[in-house]
Amino acid sequence: MSKYIAAKYASENPSLAHKLSRTRVITKALLAAGMCCTLLACSEPQQTQETPEAAKTIINNVSVVDPVDGLVALQQVVIQADKIIYVGPAENIEKVNEANDKNQVIDATGQFLIPGLWDMHVHFLYDEALTDVMPELFLRYGVTSVRDTGGDVKKLASLREKLKDTPAPRIYFSGPLLDGKFVVYDGSDPSRPPLGTGVLDAESAMDTVTALKSAGADFIKIYELIDPATYNSLAAAARQLDMPIASHVPLMMTADVAGPMAGSMEHLRNIELACAANWQALLTQRQAKITGFTEGLGYTLRSELHSAQRIPAIKAYDETRCNEVLDTLTNTIQVPTLRLNTVLMLKPFERADWPDAATALPQDVLENWQARIDLLNTSSLGMDHTFANWSQFLIARLLERGVPIGAGTDTPIGLGIPGYSLHTELELLVAGGMSTQQALYAATVTPAKFLGLEDTMGQIKVGMAADLVLLSSNPLENIEHSRTVTKVMSRGLWVE
Ligand SMILES: [Zn+2]
Repeated sequence: MSKYIAAKYASENPSLAHKLSRTRVITKALLAAGMCCTLLACSEPQQTQETPEAAKTIINNVSVVDPVDGLVALQQVVIQADKIIYVGPAENIEKVNEANDKNQVIDATGQFLIPGLWDMHVHFLYDEALTDVMPELFLRYGVTSVRDTGGDVKKLASLREKLKDTPAPRIYFSGPLLDGKFVVYDGSDPSRPPLGTGVLDAESAMDTVTALKSAGADFIKIYELIDPATYNSLAAAARQLDMPIASHVPLMMTADVAGPMAGSMEHLRNIELACAANWQALLTQRQAKITGFTEGLGYTLRSELHSAQRIPAIKAYDETRCNEVLDTLTNTIQVPTLRLNTVLMLKPFERADWPDAATALPQDVLENWQARIDLLNTSSLGMDHTFANWSQFLIARLLERGVPIGAGTDTPIGLGIPGYSLHTELELLVAGGMSTQQALYAATVTPAKFLGLEDTMGQIKVGMAADLVLLSSNPLENIEHSRTVTKVMSRGLWVE
């Protein structure tokens, strides 16, 4: 039995206190109903076995940074099994210590405790040379939960199964990108993995979503070449089966029409078209091009449309029209992936901490990335950064109109080092106008809400999951301090 499993097993044993109080409650209830001797063999008094109380982890003198309530200094946080069981002043320290000398007590004077972070947009299967190192990298950087937004459902289910008893982030996945007759990620080019699949008509939507759900998918992901009728049917099927929806805006639709049907929208892509004064004309052009496309690659079709229309749409930005669009999205989380959208402008490999972070990548991946960095360095002159700037500009607009924002990176796409890149995303969200606390909220509470898990994850509160990160500096003071990770707890256990 590995150390991790052994610790997990021990921590999952119910405490004697719980057992006793439960027995007492049941006995009392049965006696009250006059049923004790008819249901229980009660000729002899019930034996209670002395079992030691499950060990606790006690973090003392820590500054708790809750994404909702803000900072409270000098707190004690107690963890038992995989839950937080106490948060408050350190007055109960004596009691807790007496209960069991196996308790682990940590003095976190001067440190800051935040909930485990989420990356809302990752792809474990984009580069399979990286798949196996991703879980460990996420944890190293304090990312204890991820949403995999596109990949083969069977492979993702077995990856999650394989990681079940080892330190790994919690993985929530969608299965493949649900695309149309043409599929952007169809696997036809070796540089682009087969992340997508075609849903050919509205009639097959229910079967598709049912199959994904039974294969273990937690939500569905809809992609760009789907037709509007199929999009509507997928949305209806997902609603019926209680599956959240993450979506790109389908190119045949506008953000204000497709967005409200989804729980999250990715990359801010296609909002520029909806926000343009001439959106109707651009949409008509786009629909004609897609309808007339009978032969070729989905990837080419998608790229041609983006490059033909994206910049003209941004240039035709109409604030009044855009406000109308954004006001339809107040229940749809936007996952901007600013890190990805700005990668050519804010080259991540020029950061001082990049070389060190990159050493964790497998050698072949490192070589491959270096070749791309070299290419970028020689060809980046005269590159257009309109969309990167637009993405950053849009953050303040989303905040102003009350559109929720979630933190996601699209790692490993676009030189995204797993875990590391989430911190860059947080910095970019703050640079775009979020407060540091809002940025933390975007990487904790917001993703939990997408999956309906906000009652059990995302905050430092009694009853919540013990996914926690200790930082040596205050992230509310400066979001870059989210990088100062000293210790990570995943499901109640410290990650070594
Ligand atoms: Zn993606």
